[in-house]
Amino acid sequence: MLILAGGMSLAAGAQPPAGAQGNSSPSQPAQTASPKRDPAKPAYSLPPETLARAIAYSHIRVVLDFVSSGWSIVSLVLLLGLGGIARMRDVAVNLSRNRWVQGVVFALLLLLATTLLELPLDMYGHHVSVSYGQSVQGWGSWFADAGKGFLLTLAVGVPVVMLLFRVIRRSPSRWWFWFWIPAMLLVLVSVFVAPVLIDPLFNKFEPLSKSDPALVDRLEQVVARGGVQIPPGRMYLMKASEKVTGLNAYVTGYGASKRVVVWDNTTAKATPDEISFIFGHELGHYVLNHIPKTLAFLGVLLLVEFYLGYRGVRWLLERYGRDWHIPSQNDWGMLAVMLLVLSVLSFFTEPVVNGYSRMNEHEADIYGQEVIHGIVADPQTAAQQAFQVLGEVSLTDPNPNAFVTFWTFSHPSVAYRAAFAAAYDPWNADRHPKFFKK
Ligand SMILES: [Zn+2]
Repeated sequence: MLILAGGMSLAAGAQPPAGAQGNSSPSQPAQTASPKRDPAKPAYSLPPETLARAIAYSHIRVVLDFVSSGWSIVSLVLLLGLGGIARMRDVAVNLSRNRWVQGVVFALLLLLATTLLELPLDMYGHHVSVSYGQSVQGWGSWFADAGKGFLLTLAVGVPVVMLLFRVIRRSPSRWWFWFWIPAMLLVLVSVFVAPVLIDPLFNKFEPLSKSDPALVDRLEQVVARGGVQIPPGRMYLMKASEKVTGLNAYVTGYGASKRVVVWDNTTAKATPDEISFIFGHELGHYVLNHIPKTLAFLGVLLLVEFYLGYRGVRWLLERYGRDWHIPSQNDWGMLAVMLLVLSVLSFFTEPVVNGYSRMNEHEADIYGQEVIHGIVADPQTAAQQAFQVLGEVSLTDPNPNAFVTFWTFSHPSVAYRAAFAAAYDPWNADRHPKFFKK
């Protein structure tokens, strides 16, 4: 139920992208300009042995993605149908008459059960990341992150659950709307505080100027051309290499917490020209206000989901409430029914959210290429090479399935992005840039 719309990144997903190579030196690469590409080759391609690995890895990821979604729904149905939820409710209610004690105990039991049921798939996912060279995170650190996530969900979740049941009792048939208002406020607050309070729990950050003042100078040139103000103090380096090998960058927060974050893997594995493009892409999200727009989009979607959630919960309780021993929407067990309905809804809205995201990502790609014009010698090659490096390191399949792309990709495929970049030259002849004047 907790939606943390983290930020807009260069590469897909919250999960760390993959990396084929192990350790690379943190110093700047010697070359400053990207080499010219053989025009007969596709804009993004992999050597045969890497290609086989990339295809195998993508297949596992796709299957895991759909199986995880399905399992989270099936496991809730099983917990309800086998009486597990009713038993948790009984434990909570028999323990104390105090609503807060009941709420904490029930939420803890429910979270514990769902977390343990999902643990094997999560662990398998991490195992795959490690065996394909994507992650270098040890199990101790991985479990520590999982534990932190658990406590964070519980700490935020309990007050939310208490509020939900309060609203339901006050307004039995309009709670979906009245609860949506504090839920949206929570989303806004969490996106605001995430970069300052939550992200540092999982990764280390330092000012980019500390390790790479030359890069900051270069990025300030890009910022100046974008016509915005991002002081160097808002540019951070994230020590991603302690956990993952892929490269990425993202913008996050808004207002006083708005910032650009570059992973240390990115500065280690990409040339200054490629980094300039990657940064330009992030700057695009920043300048084009993608975070507030996405929050507004998700807000509307959340309202629709809450209304359908309300209808779904009522329907399910009328039909199965007796079997599940959950008599009404005022029963603590209703929370599991609500989570079940929201899981189903979020699975089916995934392509909508991802389609919206891909649109923004494509816009940021265009912006990124236009904003480095005049700063980078060859923006087309820099952008295309950036995608080549990104795809190679992340073991990205050059020919992803169209349905999988439509349903699960938050970014256009790397092959599409590289091909677009290689062909996109708005400064040529009678063509026009989208965001800048010629
Ligand atoms: Zn992006």
